[in-house]
Amino acid sequence: MDGVFSSGPRTIHELHEYHEAPPYKTERSGPFNLMAVTRRKFLRNTGLAIAGASLARPHLFSNASILRGPSKKVAILGAGMAGLVAGYELTQLGHDVTILEARMRPGGRVHTLREPFSDGLYADAGAARIPDEHDLTLKYVKLFNLSLEPMYPSRLSALTFDRDGIRREGPMDSFTEALGGHFGGDLGGNPSRWQKIKGGTDLLPKAFAQKLADKIHYGSPVVRIETDAKMARVVFLHAGSPQTITTDRVLCTIPFSVLRNVDLPLLSERKLDVIKRAQYVAVARVYLQSRNRFWEGKGLNGFAFTQSAVEVWHPTWSQNGPRGILMTYARPGEAERITNLKDPERISSALKELDGYFPGLQANFEGAATKCWLEDEWARGAWWFVGFRDFGRSIEVEGGRIHFAGEHLSEWPSWMQGALSSGLRAVKEIDEAIV
Ligand SMILES: Cc1cc2nc3c(=O)[nH]c(=O)nc-3n(C[C@H](O)[C@H](O)[C@H](O)COP(=O)(O)OP(=O)(O)OC[C@H]3O[C@@H](n4cnc5c(N)ncnc54)[C@H](O)[C@@H]3O)c2cc1C
Repeated sequence: MDGVFSSGPRTIHELHEYHEAPPYKTERSGPFNLMAVTRRKFLRNTGLAIAGASLARPHLFSNASILRGPSKKVAILGAGMAGLVAGYELTQLGHDVTILEARMRPGGRVHTLREPFSDGLYADAGAARIPDEHDLTLKYVKLFNLSLEPMYPSRLSALTFDRDGIRREGPMDSFTEALGGHFGGDLGGNPSRWQKIKGGTDLLPKAFAQKLADKIHYGSPVVRIETDAKMARVVFLHAGSPQTITTDRVLCTIPFSVLRNVDLPLLSERKLDVIKRAQYVAVARVYLQSRNRFWEGKGLNGFAFTQSAVEVWHPTWSQNGPRGILMTYARPGEAERITNLKDPERISSALKELDGYFPGLQANFEGAATKCWLEDEWARGAWWFVGFRDFGRSIEVEGGRIHFAGEHLSEWPSWMQGALSSGLRAVKEIDEAIV
């Protein structure tokens, strides 16, 4: 979240239990069939969950051919974390995957800004923090040999302001404490339990995308999804003209805030209504580049939690200087106000406010960037807190062929872990399907 959600499974095994499908039935003959072995038992017995499949593939593959449904043609809509992990694991399992992505890059809400900053500095526009209990996220970071580093500096002081505006300088714990106190324990705790991907969070979706390069079609916004008893059809725009692909299964990971503009003729009124009503929250970030890190000379590490509950980060604290970026991170309430401003006003108001906390910023300011998620054409908001229960238990498959995944349909909404776990749940649904 970076959300405020604490319920839900915490380990892969709990996750697997949670998303457990009905007992696996196969039409193929074989000893597993006779013994009425369920996939659940199979995965348990082998000590594996599908989430860990790619990490321990040979073991799973050697038995799975008896238990799995046939190989299928699958269209995955969206190359965010949910679509990418599903594409990767389905491909590993031998399915024929095509990924349609509206943007010209993978990652969706995992996006690292590298421009317009100088000296190779970068800062994340979306996901950045990884808590130590997000086992799935950490597994894929490890699988792709990416490096982690601490999210927060352990030296110098953070600033916090209470509701009366009283300013305090304290250790980094005071920042996470304020955060946890305001948004819920999920964001608090010892600062050392938080890590980030060295080089930018987008290295994770890029690593998936590299493995799937020939299967992803960028610049391909989906406009219609339909299915019948025999197949699914997806209409997307290619160079502005409609094109259709026909597949056995569709996995839709498009956020509901955007999906409501896609033609879905076969979806039930109830599901359409949930999609239409989904309220995605506003998040606004403003990034200010300073020609030096003068605040460090004053004993400050660049992190702050303001009176209006805006986080201030120094996302470049672990990158080479001398320049640095300070970032404001506003959530609902404050975020809508910022989103309604024009870019120059967003920047000037953030600069003025931060110069109050870090006097000297105006004088050292060089340039800025902003990211307001409500105005992102392919996200229309940061995340959705309602969860999948409203959408229908286990995302019943409409017409038997459309599956849904994404952080919004997971037990960890607003986290990469949620997107990954929902993608893996869909992999299991699709892999086990008989047709
Ligand atoms: C500001 C912010 C901060 C966050 N902080 C953290 C954090 O610190 N830690 C953490 O773990 N998580 C964090 N998250 C959450 C995390 O980024 C998301 O939960 C996760 O990336 C969502 O992945 P997804 O695949 O469900 O959705 P998305 O990433 O939105 O992927 C959906 C994809 O579908 C594409 N798409 C949309 N419409 C169409 C269409 N019509 N046709 C084809 N493609 C389409 C989109 O372009 C996108 O690529 C944060 C998110 C935000 C916005």
